[in-house]
Amino acid sequence: MIKLESSRCIRSLTKESGCNKCEVICPTNAIVVGSNPLPSIDFSACVACGACDGVCPNEALPLDNFSVVDFFFDFVKESNGGFISCKKNVPCIAALSVEYLISMAILKKRVILDIGHCKTCEIASTCYPQIVKNYEEAEYLLEAMQSDAEIKLHKVAYKPLENTKKDANRREFLQFVNLDTVIKTSREFEKEVKKATDELVAHTLEKSDISLLRQKRIPQKRKIFFTAIKRVKKPAVYHVVDATEVSFTSQKLLDKKSCTACQMCYRLCPTGALSSDIKNSKIDFDPFLCIKCNTCHDVCEVDAITLSPSYNIKEFFEPTVQNLISFKVLRCDECGMLFSTNSDDKLCNRCKIT
Ligand code: SF4
Ligand code: SF4
Ligand code: SF4
Repeated sequence: MIKLESSRCIRSLTKESGCNKCEVICPTNAIVVGSNPLPSIDFSACVACGACDGVCPNEALPLDNFSVVDFFFDFVKESNGGFISCKKNVPCIAALSVEYLISMAILKKRVILDIGHCKTCEIASTCYPQIVKNYEEAEYLLEAMQSDAEIKLHKVAYKPLENTKKDANRREFLQFVNLDTVIKTSREFEKEVKKATDELVAHTLEKSDISLLRQKRIPQKRKIFFTAIKRVKKPAVYHVVDATEVSFTSQKLLDKKSCTACQMCYRLCPTGALSSDIKNSKIDFDPFLCIKCNTCHDVCEVDAITLSPSYNIKEFFEPTVQNLISFKVLRCDECGMLFSTNSDDKLCNRCKIT
């Protein structure tokens, strides 16, 4: 089953968030993003394909029996291979985001994605187009990086060796079985069945989530991606690519005339890609940390932040923090508190309102 880590869901940061990527990709409609701030989940409809976590910008929907990070490290450690199939090593290839695909290709040189089962698969309606989309984006970016690593889609239709697997399973089962374990397993099974009602389970933020929300955290896939990138030889020339072809990071433009210095964008940015200093006298942007979650755009009331139409591959190899704007820091004529402003205001926002 999946679980929702509420504090990682971008929707928990602001009611303005329009993120519903998990709802759109779910092939069984088990996830509903309705009027509640956080997605609701029908656990009995979930088929544990992991596609929702694959598209989630902040990895908020991990599976309880498949860790993408563990899979990644096992996969790159394997001496042969480079082969990924839903019948061999992943629940569905759509569970692997573009960052994972690129990282695996860089470290293995060649990765084959087995799409031989997709034609007959019941969850292919949303997952197959996502697999192709991720593959095309990963290939496009590898080419732009001038890397010789490659990813291929092949209709292998891998089948596990049934008998060997069954024998091994039977041996493992007989070693394990005794009265205590049977009773324990039966209780756990009943608990899981109870949990799997066909109702939508709403999620809320717990007290412990609030402190996690305040922390700026970078998803594992981003850490792995930049570790892998370090293994790639820097290209002689950095290409600039079409930003609409890059789903997981972005470069930003800020309209200095319309920005009101309200501070919302960098206070809510989940990773710290947007930041300021202790005096709140500026907004800096670090594309290395941006997960393209759209929060900054969603909360900016004056639409001062926009996406740059292009993305320079240089940011993968030599990330630079850019200053988007600097503010004046003045003392408010009314309350005497310091405030940042982008105009000649003499009053802070709070005093202007009151
Ligand atoms: S894709 Fe992730 S961030 Fe977006 S609504 Fe779903 S869980 Fe939240
Ligand atoms: S860019 Fe928008 S959200 Fe950020 S400080 Fe300026 S007005 Fe506020
Ligand atoms: S800069 Fe904007 S899009 Fe990027 S991670 Fe921060 S809030 Fe999300």
